[in-house]
Amino acid sequence: MNRTDLSKSPYERLAGALAEWPALLRRLRAQHPPTGICPACTTPGGRNVVEAPCAPRSLADRAGVIQRAGLISVA
Ligand SMILES: [Zn+2]
Repeated sequence: MNRTDLSKSPYERLAGALAEWPALLRRLRAQHPPTGICPACTTPGGRNVVEAPCAPRSLADRAGVIQRAGLISVA
């Protein structure tokens, strides 16, 4: 995937760019679990609880699909 491909949505372009950063992708997945309450997105003691998959996790998962599909080349 060419991340400057303007025919893709901004979300898809962002996911494509993230797919090129495996270390960042791993960190996002480690900090934002796929199930339960996301500890990274929920403010401790706050009223609002963010349930997984949160927005960063969803983006990381989409980037992982792009990465595995070989739509981008990872050096
Ligand atoms: Zn999160």
